Amino acid sequence: MSTVVLVRCPSYDRRTVEDAVEAGLSALPEAEPIRPGESLLLKPNLLAAIPPGSAATTHPEVVRAVALFLARRGARLTCGDSPALDDPGRALRISGLTAVLEELGLPEADFRRSVSVPFPEGHVLRRMDLAKAVADADGVVGISKLKTHALTGLTGAVKNLYGCVAGREKALGHFRHPSPASFARMVADVAACVAPRFHVMDAVVAMEGNGPRNGRPRSLGFLLFSADPVALDAVAAHLVRIAPDTVPTLAAGAARGLGVRSPDRIRVSMPRPEDRPASVPGGIFSCRAMPDALRFDDFEAAETEHSLLAAFFRRSGRLGRKALVHRPVIAASDCIQCGQCIDACPTDPASLSRESGREVPVYDYGRCIRCYCCQEICPAGAIRVRRAPLAFLLGR
Ligand code: SF4
Ligand code: SF4
Repeated sequence: MSTVVLVRCPSYDRRTVEDAVEAGLSALPEAEPIRPGESLLLKPNLLAAIPPGSAATTHPEVVRAVALFLARRGARLTCGDSPALDDPGRALRISGLTAVLEELGLPEADFRRSVSVPFPEGHVLRRMDLAKAVADADGVVGISKLKTHALTGLTGAVKNLYGCVAGREKALGHFRHPSPASFARMVADVAACVAPRFHVMDAVVAMEGNGPRNGRPRSLGFLLFSADPVALDAVAAHLVRIAPDTVPTLAAGAARGLGVRSPDRIRVSMPRPEDRPASVPGGIFSCRAMPDALRFDDFEAAETEHSLLAAFFRRSGRLGRKALVHRPVIAASDCIQCGQCIDACPTDPASLSRESGREVPVYDYGRCIRCYCCQEICPAGAIRVRRAPLAFLLGR
């Protein structure tokens, strides 16, 4: 049985967030106590250098409140992440976190250098290049953002830890493990190696639709807390009614022993009486029995494909793939011709390029491995996942 603590937090007002974090972390069972003097790395989701209003990154007020809670208990803190293409320092600044670090006197974590870490217990990765900041810290605290994701359905506590892998290595991981299931198994190894002390999820304003960068901000008004990243993501999926089978990190995380995903084995705790719906006066219920009053029926999921048959057709000939596997497409009218999608593509040569006389990149779908790094990185929201015409034959 794992516990996920759910606290209402209707806005990013400083005092409101501080109170919600204090309530959530104080009520968190199963988390190892903080030892005075130990060094902890705060690992938010900094997908890119994007201001907080877009809901693509963990909000700085959430990171600030977690930092204050831990600093009061004597922890020495650093904070950082490894964005896909941007410089880590620039991502911290634009996302509003440099101001938090300066206010609290915290150093920027070193996500520019990496350390090769052996991991003999790995199911997929027996060695991985982790950011030096991760290797240097006594422990890690994941501070994820609830967002939709074209490859993994949902990005939350488990997927957030893929940012502990340094720089370009992340793109190589996509290339070596292109299907959602194999990518999720690799991410689960990273999560098992990093093994954070506990996780906080920013779902005050989440992202729906074309995530993880260009979806719509969606106000949910919750912060979630757990020592179990799989249970945390499972509760998040239940909140927004995303089907668990479209989130491969849930299955991979549970298989890897990171936590539990069965809704019957997850206890949800709402420690503050004022947060609770009338149907759960005691504030404790199983994830399966989550009251409708807490859930968001109209949350827009990402367009994803996760059946085993889809995985098979990803490797099949051109015709099968075209008919049965989703693909990224560019809306030429939205494209600002920056070329970042080409830079982000992990295939060599890239599976999209500028053809002579055309500034908008053109896909080579025969080579494209459907990792959706281009869709994730596009700063203009010009790339969407187009549903394959016969995908319904695969059961979705
Ligand atoms: S074109 Fe896009 S989806 Fe295809 S391999 Fe490159 S980054 Fe991945
Ligand atoms: S990243 Fe987006 S805006 Fe930039 S070239 Fe590619 S499609 Fe166009």
